[in-house]
Amino acid sequence: MKQGADRDDERAGTAPWAERVNAESLVRAARAQGVTDARVLEALRTVRRSSFVPKETLNQVGCDCAIPIGQAQTTSQPSLIGLMIEALGLGAEDVVLEIGTGYGYQAALLAKLARYVFSVERIPELAEIARHNLKAEGVLNAEVVTGDGTLGLPSSAPFDGIVVAAAFLRVPDPLAAQLAPGGRLVMPVGNGGGDLVKVFESRDNDLVELRVLCGARFVPLLGANGFEVR
Ligand code: SAH
Repeated sequence: MKQGADRDDERAGTAPWAERVNAESLVRAARAQGVTDARVLEALRTVRRSSFVPKETLNQVGCDCAIPIGQAQTTSQPSLIGLMIEALGLGAEDVVLEIGTGYGYQAALLAKLARYVFSVERIPELAEIARHNLKAEGVLNAEVVTGDGTLGLPSSAPFDGIVVAAAFLRVPDPLAAQLAPGGRLVMPVGNGGGDLVKVFESRDNDLVELRVLCGARFVPLLGANGFEVR
């Protein structure tokens, strides 16, 4: 019988059997929240969440809950991420923009569904960790850019889908402008604490609200077209 650190790692969730058990529990949670898209469920099954959280939180990776990642930020609840990326309705040829990379978990999921993922993170330390995590997991079609995501990423626009992982009172204008015709944008709208996750679509050069996906609590979107950075 293994002892000490090895055994702890297995319990914590990094042994292959523990990865499978954890992944299945996240898939079940996502189904229970209403996720039905088989590609999204398969992405939740195959992306190892344990590679996208701080080591000291490994014992929480099987839990469908947010996990602190330092810098006063969290990695979101997997079932909520599942719902949000399902609502993007991505095709395999799509190019997608994520705002708020964190440790890179959602970027890794998006990379399974789309052709290419650009992800913008404002905190350089988190961006660096996410780059490392994505590389370590062999994700080749996702790129982390350090910067203010409320400006979008004009040099790589337009995007077939945009997902924002932090809340603001409205969709920043540059994001609406960088969405391709027919593209979807999913974002928590609110003051960062009690938010409504909304789904928008670009139609005739206008951003149309399609529906409210769910309520949730997100960290605030900070930047030139978001909350003021203090
Ligand atoms: N997508 C992550 C969740 C990250 S939490 C996941 O997979 O779990 C939200 C992130 O948004 C934080 O890392 C925060 O630093 C970042 N953020 C907040 N405002 C931002 C902005 N204007 N541009 C880019 N990132 C921002």
